[in-house]
Amino acid sequence: MVLTGAGISAESGLATFRGPDGLWEWHRVEDVATPEAFVRNPALVHRYYDARRAQLNEVEPNAAHIAIARLDLEWPGEILLVTQNVDDLHERAGAKRLIHIHGENRKAWCLACDARVPWHGPMGQAASCPSCGTVGRLRPDIVWFGEMPYQMERIEDALQRCDLFVSIGTSGAVYPAAGYVQTARYCGARTVEINLEPSLGSAFFDESRIGPAGELVPTWVDELLTG
Ligand SMILES: [Zn+2]
Repeated sequence: MVLTGAGISAESGLATFRGPDGLWEWHRVEDVATPEAFVRNPALVHRYYDARRAQLNEVEPNAAHIAIARLDLEWPGEILLVTQNVDDLHERAGAKRLIHIHGENRKAWCLACDARVPWHGPMGQAASCPSCGTVGRLRPDIVWFGEMPYQMERIEDALQRCDLFVSIGTSGAVYPAAGYVQTARYCGARTVEINLEPSLGSAFFDESRIGPAGELVPTWVDELLTG
């Protein structure tokens, strides 16, 4: 099982959610990333996610995304890729067996008919649902703070059965993903982290590789596929 976080996208030039030089730092989380914020000020929340969606047009998958997609393609056994990121860089690199636990900014979720549909341009409050035609009930398909991450049962099952758990570019600060390493380790998996700096859960990893994902992940994938 491979878990990825903001660090891997940061190397493609995407601002991390609350990174020190984040373009979005001046927005407080509670103003743009909670269901309450969307009720209170939908225009602001749409503007925020519209801008982040537009930013996806300016970036490309990096060597780490490409190496992970290669691992997905060439790994002979089971594999599950789990990302905390809402961008589509893993897909654009070619990854298939992928779960977005925090949703996807290039999807809209219709609160009228519950459909989730691909969405590439601005969404705003005047957009209509391609599935049911209702106007003004679309929201970004993002798991906001206070909402339940997607596919938790499937992930829990994978954590309990996996032989190898690898965490790439995550700070280890955001639950539930921050707890994955403990479950995987408890259930017998070997645990590896690849990160710019040791994460908060660093003590739970059997091995830590510290440095840029774009350099370290391709090497690690090479070792795994040829070892
Ligand atoms: Zn609809």
